[in-house]
Amino acid sequence: MKLIVSNHKMNLTKDEILSYIKEISEIKSSNKLIFCPSYPYLSFFDGKNYFVGSQNVSDQKMGAYTGEVSASQLRSLGIQYAIIGHSERRNILNESFELIHKKVKICLENNIIPILCIGEKKEEINQKEEILTAELKSAFDDIGDDRKNIVIAYEPIWSIGTGLVPTKEEIEETLSWIKKYIKDNYQVDCKTLYGGSVNEENISNLKEIQSIDGYLIGGASLKLNKLKQMIDILEV
Ligand code: PEP
Repeated sequence: MKLIVSNHKMNLTKDEILSYIKEISEIKSSNKLIFCPSYPYLSFFDGKNYFVGSQNVSDQKMGAYTGEVSASQLRSLGIQYAIIGHSERRNILNESFELIHKKVKICLENNIIPILCIGEKKEEINQKEEILTAELKSAFDDIGDDRKNIVIAYEPIWSIGTGLVPTKEEIEETLSWIKKYIKDNYQVDCKTLYGGSVNEENISNLKEIQSIDGYLIGGASLKLNKLKQMIDILEV
């Protein structure tokens, strides 16, 4: 079973999200669908035939943190997943390794599965392993047995929203490198997703990648016709 994670980012109005929800409630899939809308819409998603995730979480438990949302609040809404360390948050909002580590930890403490995003910038392609090692190490160090639940999404930053996708062979190599790194250093098998310009045209090709446990999809998942096509392709 593959994970199909839809990251809405900061898109869709209330009316748009309500009609989106109506349509997804009729989707049947043997894969695991996870929708990550903006915070205000989370409780509109009933999660009957899919799972619901947030796009972020506070690193703090509770209290005077205006504008933040805690892991326990998310859990109380039935949220099962949270995207952590997305490159947009790392780069635009300057989220540090330390902050991301705290967010991963607080998710696990609240039974929320963190979808940890890692990936290199275009100019870092030649140091990809060093970049990924630093991102993985800072997130995984000092996490207890629950670390086996962390889902890792490899998203080359140069691929997000650009239409550029690494070759199948490159993705296979990177995902198997990540799996091996985690197994060797933390003795667990983690699920590895690919994200970055996944769409209805390239998903049949990406489906052939052996080490892929799923997809993190931004832009193309906002359009229901595209999302449904991708779900159908992954079904067969
Ligand atoms: C993302 O937001 O994580 C993402 C992969 O976006 P897109 O599919 O639009 O490249």
